[in-house]
Amino acid sequence: MRIQLSVIFTDACNMRCSYCTTAKRPVWIQSKTLEKLSELLRRTAPAPLDLNFHGGEPTLAWERVEELVHLVLPQQTERRLSLNLCTNGTGLNPERAAFLAGHKFNVRVSIDGARESHTRFRRPHAAEDNAQQYYDQTLAGLQAVVQAGVSTAANMVVTPATVEKLLENAVFLLKQGLVHLVISPVVGQPWEEAALLSLDRQLREMTLLWQHWLQRHPRKAEDLRRSLLSEIARARYCAGDGQVQPDARFWVIGPDGRIFGDEPDIRTEKALTLGHIDQIGDFSELPALPRNAFQLMFDRAFYPEHVLRDVRRTHRLLARHSRATYLQLFGPLPEE
Ligand code: SF4
Repeated sequence: MRIQLSVIFTDACNMRCSYCTTAKRPVWIQSKTLEKLSELLRRTAPAPLDLNFHGGEPTLAWERVEELVHLVLPQQTERRLSLNLCTNGTGLNPERAAFLAGHKFNVRVSIDGARESHTRFRRPHAAEDNAQQYYDQTLAGLQAVVQAGVSTAANMVVTPATVEKLLENAVFLLKQGLVHLVISPVVGQPWEEAALLSLDRQLREMTLLWQHWLQRHPRKAEDLRRSLLSEIARARYCAGDGQVQPDARFWVIGPDGRIFGDEPDIRTEKALTLGHIDQIGDFSELPALPRNAFQLMFDRAFYPEHVLRDVRRTHRLLARHSRATYLQLFGPLPEE
């Protein structure tokens, strides 16, 4: 068994991407919550631990980020520890990038590609701020972590309005030195047939893109292979067809200390609540969640039927193309 633990440092964010489903409550994690969390981990079986630093925007609570790293580092002597940060990049700078590199973080930056696509739906929170400047900050943050040698992925949201530029945006991100592109078809905007056909076409062309890229970067083949496997699993999970990591127990700690069985959003957080960190002695006391967040979303129709249908169709398309790319470049999938 392995443990996937995500910590939501704050629900707050300095951006207001129009497709975001995170509750933007101004709740911030406290030091005592992090100390309790670290204590609970010490009492829980020393299984390998993937510790994910999430928000809102976690870099807004940077002191707490550093604090949690220092609290959990001693556990490295008894368990394999992997640290992962998900950020919009605006709060990254060379100093923070050096900290992340020094602690071998994997960083995922939310960037949809080149300026035009990114700024279409990603806006700053403060009305007086400028989306273009925020894009510059995101790009500078991305470049800071890449230059510091941090293992970095891009979280690219693709929408019906930007899908025609998917390939172009992917090329842009590859030129920034990235290999792992996490492509997320937007949830909540209608995917009409024309947009789905365009997504299908762009994803097919991505296979050719990866073929050419691999010829020029043969030493990065293993990075690409792993990223494709991860994307196949993630697309299946989002379509309600499976778990991202079937061998892992997954817990999410909210900034107020609530424990969820999977990533919550405004609609699913109640159904995903398992307890509170002040009420348990160690994590193994928690019940397993019978269905993950996306399966619950489909089971209980947390979104209108047409939205759920689009989520299934777009993510199954993504899974099919990622699998086809894998087959073409690396042969049969490990489980086949
Ligand atoms: S940066 Fe992330 S958390 Fe912030 S508004 Fe955008 S999608 Fe939501």
